[in-house]
Amino acid sequence: MTESSTRLYRGRFAPSPTGPLHFGSLLAATASYLQAKQQQGQWLLRIEDLDPPREVPGAAEAFLYTLEAFGFEWDGEVCWQSRRLDHYEAILDELLQQGLAYRCACSRKAITQQAEQLGLQAGIYRGHCRSRHISAHQQHAVRLLTEGARIRFVDAVQGEIQQDLDREVGDFVLRRADGFIAYQLAVVVDDAAHGITEVVRGSDLLDSTPRQIFLQQQLGYARPDYLHLPVAVNPQGQKLSKQSFAAAISPADALHSLWQALNFLGQQAPVELLDGGRDDLWRWAREHWQAQAIPRKLAIPYPSESPSNEH
Ligand SMILES: [Zn+2]
Repeated sequence: MTESSTRLYRGRFAPSPTGPLHFGSLLAATASYLQAKQQQGQWLLRIEDLDPPREVPGAAEAFLYTLEAFGFEWDGEVCWQSRRLDHYEAILDELLQQGLAYRCACSRKAITQQAEQLGLQAGIYRGHCRSRHISAHQQHAVRLLTEGARIRFVDAVQGEIQQDLDREVGDFVLRRADGFIAYQLAVVVDDAAHGITEVVRGSDLLDSTPRQIFLQQQLGYARPDYLHLPVAVNPQGQKLSKQSFAAAISPADALHSLWQALNFLGQQAPVELLDGGRDDLWRWAREHWQAQAIPRKLAIPYPSESPSNEH
C-alpha cells in the first residue's frame, strides 16, 4: 500500500422500501458489498424512502433484518432519505438561484400535448416553462435545465453509454408538483455527501445515470465510477423486466440464495460451498470476487415472466 492514490473506496446499497428484498436486490447488495470489501473500502446502507404512497409499512425494517441474516455488515449509521429533506431543499434553492433549474406549472395533460406538438416521445419535456415566471406560491414542479446536455460515460460492465439528455429525456423533475423530492436529486446529493466512489446497482437504473451525471456536473460534484449489473434476458436473449427478479428472498435460504447470486454474477462458486456455512461462503466470495467476470447479460432460466408483485 505505498501507492500515492489513497482514495478510500466507498460503495453503497440503496433499496427503496416498496416491497420485500428480492433476488434482484440481493444481486445488487452482493456485488456492491464484495466490491467494497475487496478494496478494503466501506459499504454504506441507505434507505430511499422518499415516496410514502408507494412504500410498504415495515419494509425498511425488514430490509435491515434480512441483510443482517444474510451476513451483510454495513459501515456507520443507516441513512434514511426521509430525514434529509431540508438538505435536498437547500440544494434545490441553490439550483433555482443559479438559474440551472426552474419552476414548471404544466399539468400532465399539457406536457403530453406539448410533446405531441413538438413531435417528441411522450413524457419528454422540452422546456415550456423555461422562460415563464412561475411564482413559488403556485403549485409547481422544479425541473433541471438540460439544454445542450450530452453525457458519455464508460460503465464497468455495460461499456460506453451516451445520451443526449435534451433530446432523449428533456428537462427532468427534481421536485414533483406534489412536493416529493425526486429520486434523481436525492441520489446525486447523497452519493456526493457520503463520498461514494463507485455506484454498483441494477441495470434497470442505467437509463437514469446520464441524468445523475449531468446533475453532478451542475452541482460541481465528483463523478463516481459506475457498475451496472447484467441486464436480465430470457434464454432466447430477449430483455426481461425486473419482475423476473421479483421473488422475495428469505433468511431461511440465505446460503443457497447467496450461492446462486454469486453464480449469477459470473463467480463460479463451487457447489461444495452449499455443504458449509454462510461464513465460509462469504470468505470464499471475498477471496475470489472478480468484477471482470460479471456478464453483461444474464439469461434467466424461467420460461416466461410471471405476473408477480410489481416493483
Ligand atoms: Zn412547464
